[in-house]
Amino acid sequence: MKTFRKELWFEVPTRRAFINITPEVEKCLKESGIKEGLVLVNAMHITASVFINDDESGLHKDLDVWLEGLAPHEPISQYKHNNTGEDNADAHMKRQIMGREVVVAVTNGRLDFGPWEQIFYGEFDGRRKKRVLVKIIGE
Ligand code: ZN
Repeated sequence: MKTFRKELWFEVPTRRAFINITPEVEKCLKESGIKEGLVLVNAMHITASVFINDDESGLHKDLDVWLEGLAPHEPISQYKHNNTGEDNADAHMKRQIMGREVVVAVTNGRLDFGPWEQIFYGEFDGRRKKRVLVKIIGE
């Protein structure tokens, strides 16, 4: 069995963003030489997510509005976590809803997606360097 590990780095200039990282994951898969197996992609930070959905800008706006409704960033004082001096309690909650990781099957050297599936990095507390782990196993 072969294994492959790589960290993808991001520094998003805004507090929140969704970034399609499918091309980077496909690059990793190509580099790994693995044809049959599994790819794990996970955010390495507790205020960011990796998830699969459609690459459609209206949907991304809808997701952002929905998440902001569930866990508004302000007022910052509404969250006990922010008593630590941080202001990112909402980002922890948004990450919890959107998830930590995805697993995608590898078939014939390709990501074996369903229709319209793409992999996204969801940033909820940006403006600093953060990482995503890509781990591929198979043969
Ligand atoms: Zn925090």
